Amino acid sequence: MSKLSENSVLIIGGGPAGLSVALMLAKRGWSNITVLEKRPSANYYESDKAFSYQIDGRGQKLTDFLGFTEKLAAKSVPSTEFYFTVIDKNGKRKTTQLPIVDAQRKTAYWLPRAEFLQVLYEEIIEKYPNNIQVLFNTECLSIEKKSDYLEVICQSNQQGEFSFYPNFLIGCDGINSIVRSFLQEIEEDKTCFQVLKFPSPSSELLYKILSLKPQFPLSEQAGDLSQSSMAYVIRSVFQDRHKKLSLGLLPFKNSLQPRTANIITYRDHYIWQLKTPKEFEQFLKESFPQLPLDKIVPPEEFARFMASKGGKFPIPQYCPQFWKILEESGLNSPSKTAILLLGDAIHSFPPDLGQGVNSALEDIYLLKDLLNETKDDLSQALPRYQELRLPDVKALIRLVQVSYPWQYNQNLFQKRLWNINFLLRLVLSRLFPFLFSPHSFLLIQNHELSYSEILAKSNRTTLALGILGGLVLLSCLVLSTWT
Ligand SMILES: Cc1cc2nc3c(=O)[nH]c(=O)nc-3n(C[C@H](O)[C@H](O)[C@H](O)COP(=O)(O)OP(=O)(O)OC[C@H]3O[C@@H](n4cnc5c(N)ncnc54)[C@H](O)[C@@H]3O)c2cc1C
Repeated sequence: MSKLSENSVLIIGGGPAGLSVALMLAKRGWSNITVLEKRPSANYYESDKAFSYQIDGRGQKLTDFLGFTEKLAAKSVPSTEFYFTVIDKNGKRKTTQLPIVDAQRKTAYWLPRAEFLQVLYEEIIEKYPNNIQVLFNTECLSIEKKSDYLEVICQSNQQGEFSFYPNFLIGCDGINSIVRSFLQEIEEDKTCFQVLKFPSPSSELLYKILSLKPQFPLSEQAGDLSQSSMAYVIRSVFQDRHKKLSLGLLPFKNSLQPRTANIITYRDHYIWQLKTPKEFEQFLKESFPQLPLDKIVPPEEFARFMASKGGKFPIPQYCPQFWKILEESGLNSPSKTAILLLGDAIHSFPPDLGQGVNSALEDIYLLKDLLNETKDDLSQALPRYQELRLPDVKALIRLVQVSYPWQYNQNLFQKRLWNINFLLRLVLSRLFPFLFSPHSFLLIQNHELSYSEILAKSNRTTLALGILGGLVLLSCLVLSTWT
């Protein structure tokens, strides 16, 4: 094993959090930053992660600081309102504007994950080639605590196995973070880095992504093509809970790129029991007779879809401790190491609110402020970071549990109740803004409110609705006893 570097920042994971924190540190003048990423490239196409992100005002706090929001906007579909076209089982189409977008909010931008990662990587190459190196095809295998230093053992296709000895190790390696597992291993109190889980009605739903031809036809009629910038919900003919299916298509700009359709459903759905590509093709054709599927799904896609592992929505979860400094006596000696977790490594949840990436970017924005405040002294910045961020992380996990978990048609009754609750809060907040707030699904789009403030407003409205409901019930009781 060769010793590759000393006195350095090592970031495990080149996803949204990893590449963004590298950019943030480089912009603050840090150098000798290495990002390890096991995928072959920034925009490597991962079929099961080919979803679209909506970078909202919260995420844009960081992209504004890093100076690339305009570049992002140029590659995205702006989302000021949310229009989508429902294609019903009989082929009828209706384009609707949903009242789920706060009209006052900052424009958000839709773009595919791979394209967002490519934008981040290009920023690194163009602006900080001497400060940051990104090693693709390189996996962190393990982390070992030696007597007075930390050894991070990695493997790459070209170099085989080698080690890093960083001063600052940042875990941006997602939900199954190897950095977090290491911290749990070395910490005496095992509960410190133990992930706490809070199930929601959407957690553990299964998903796979079906790739469709770019600008695919919506019918046999010549020129009747789908638009990449439009969201679609395509409903199947089946009504039975185990066979009913929707294809959900989110917008993106590049009309020449294959379109991706999300298939999200419960684990006992018929689709997950299918064994062969032929069976899957047959089921899709039976489900969506309103579509010319032969012209929409490339022939090889049936086999790819069946072979892909797909994924499971995570249970909303967070890690209560974000950092550790080994041998805290001083960070000036090169043998001392600070360790920090960011993004999905500390908080992870289903995509109901589209906050996964935005919360990761907000983590980094706050860290930037604290580095500023402490003049880059990690021994002060990291504890302060946790103190300020943990309440928001807890609030976010609660918001994900309650805000919009029924949107995947798991239970129509619950979805209707949610609709009533949403509209009730919307109407009452317009009539009596001093007493009621809009639904948290709308509040979350206001990037100037922290997650804790949103949860507090939502809880206050729940209490006010409870009191109002109690008063209405009481009045009915009194009236009925009088008459
Ligand atoms: C189905 C689905 C849909 C989603 N939709 C949205 C959405 O619409 N909007 C939204 O904001 N969020 C969405 N999310 C959540 C979002 O993808 C995550 O919150 C976000 O990716 C977190 O970024 P991250 O960088 O922390 O982690 P990740 O994106 O998981 O990145 C971690 C990176 O680390 C690499 N890595 C891991 N281990 C190692 C290792 N040992 N060595 C080297 N590299 C390693 C991985 O290859 C990966 O590139 C969705 C998630 C799912 C599952």
